[in-house]
Amino acid sequence: MKFASSALLVLALTTVLGISPAASPVAVIGPPGVLIIRGARLIDGEGGAPIEGAVVVAQDGVIVKVFREGEAPIPDGRIGSRIIDARGGTILPGLIDGHVHLGGTSGARISAAELVGGRIDHDLAAYLFFGVTTIRSLGDAPRLVFGLKKLDAAADGRAPNILAAGPMLTASGASPLALGVKTAASFSLVAAEISNEAEGRLKVRELIAAGADTIKVMYEEGPPSRRVPIISEAIFRAIVAEAHSAGVPVCVHTSTCREVQGAVRAGADGVEHGVVREPIDKETIRLLVESKTFYCPTICVIEAPLRIAAGFDPESDSLLSRTLLPAVWASINNPASVSSQARANPQKMEARKRMLQQAVENLQQAYRAGVPICLGTDSGNEATFPGYSVHREMELLVQAGMEPMRVIQAATMTAARYCRIDSRAGSVRVGKRADLLIVEGNPLESISALRRIKFVVIGGKVVDREHLFDDDR
Ligand SMILES: [Zn+2]
Repeated sequence: MKFASSALLVLALTTVLGISPAASPVAVIGPPGVLIIRGARLIDGEGGAPIEGAVVVAQDGVIVKVFREGEAPIPDGRIGSRIIDARGGTILPGLIDGHVHLGGTSGARISAAELVGGRIDHDLAAYLFFGVTTIRSLGDAPRLVFGLKKLDAAADGRAPNILAAGPMLTASGASPLALGVKTAASFSLVAAEISNEAEGRLKVRELIAAGADTIKVMYEEGPPSRRVPIISEAIFRAIVAEAHSAGVPVCVHTSTCREVQGAVRAGADGVEHGVVREPIDKETIRLLVESKTFYCPTICVIEAPLRIAAGFDPESDSLLSRTLLPAVWASINNPASVSSQARANPQKMEARKRMLQQAVENLQQAYRAGVPICLGTDSGNEATFPGYSVHREMELLVQAGMEPMRVIQAATMTAARYCRIDSRAGSVRVGKRADLLIVEGNPLESISALRRIKFVVIGGKVVDREHLFDDDR
C-alpha cells in the first residue's frame, strides 16, 4: 500500500483516527503527516559542525524545518503530528549502502536452502532495521531488482529506497568465474557481455529505460595466472558517454592500479574496491584526486570470511542475531564456503589477510590525498550481512584512520553524490526526503553509537523496527 495521498487527505485521516501528538509510544506506520524531532544533536551529513538541541520538522515525507531549539518556534503539536523527544541522542541522515547485491547472501556458494521465499524481503527489512534507508544494487538480475524497485516497499516503511544497476557490463568472453558466479546460467542473469561500442551504447539505453539508476562495469583482468578479457577503452568510453548523457553514473569494479587508471580515463564516476591486489601508486592517486573519482573500498567484504574463520559468533551480537536467518548461517558453515576454506587452508587465510591489509593501506593513502571515500559493503557476498555490514564497514574505516565525521559523510552525503541522489537524500536539509536515523549517544566520540538505534525514519514515517520481521513467521 502506498501513501501517495494528498496532505489534505492525510490530515483528514489522522483526525478521524484521533491520533494525538505523542499518543503512541510504539512506532506506528501511518500516513506521513507531521513529524517533529527535538532535543538531539544534529549531524547533517555534509560535514558541518554538529548542532546541539536541534529541531527537525518533516511534513508529508519531506524535511521542512531544521533549526536550533530556541531560534524558531516549534510547531505546536496539532492533530496528525508526532513528536519525538530525542534528548541525549543524535539525529543523522539515514545511511546509504552504495554497493550491495540482493540476489544472494552467500555469493557464489549460495545454497538452495537459502533461497527460501521471503529471504530478499527479510534482507531488505534488515537494511532498514540497521538504519540504512537507501541501497544501491550493483549487479543483480534485472527482473529481480527493477521489479523490487517498482514494488517500492520503502513507501510502506518495509524496505529501503532501492537504486539498481541491473547486470554488470563486461567483456565478451569474460568467464563466469571472474564474476564470482557459479554457473553459466547465473552468469547470464547478472552479467551482460559487450563486444563493441554500438552494443555498449544500446545496452546502456535499454537498462536505463528498464529502470537502471546506475551502470556497473566489471573491469578486472584477474590475477596473472588466470587472465580474463576486459572491455576496450573505446567501448568503455562509449558506455560512460551514453550513461552520462542520461545523467546516470558509472561504477566500475577494479582491483589494480591499471584498472583504476582505465576507469578514470574512461570518465567513470567511481571505483568499487579500488586497488586491493597491489600497493596503490602515485599516478593512480594523482588521477583519482584530479578527476574527483569516488573510491568505495568495501573493506568488510574482504574481512568477513576471515572473521568467521576466526570464530566470530553472530549470536554474540544482539542486533545481528535478530536479523540472521538460520539457512544463511548454515550455508556460511558449509565446507565449500570461503570462510570454511579459509579455516581449513592456512595459505588461503594468509593470502586473504594480505589482501585485507593491502586494501586498508591503499584506502589510507587515497583518504589522505583527498580522494572522496564512499561507503559500500558488497553485501550479498558471504557473511557480509545486510545492514549489519554498513556498521562494520564504518568501524573498519575509523580503525583505518578516517575521522568519524568523514566516515558518516561517506555513508550519507558522499554516497548520495556518487549515486546522484544528493538533491533529495544524503543530508538533513530542508527540501530533502525525511530519511533519518536517531541514535543514543554521540557517534563522533564512538562510531559504534550508530548501532544504538532509537528510531529509523523513512520518507517521514517512523519504521516499526520491532515488527519488521513478523512476516518471517
Ligand atoms: Zn559487488
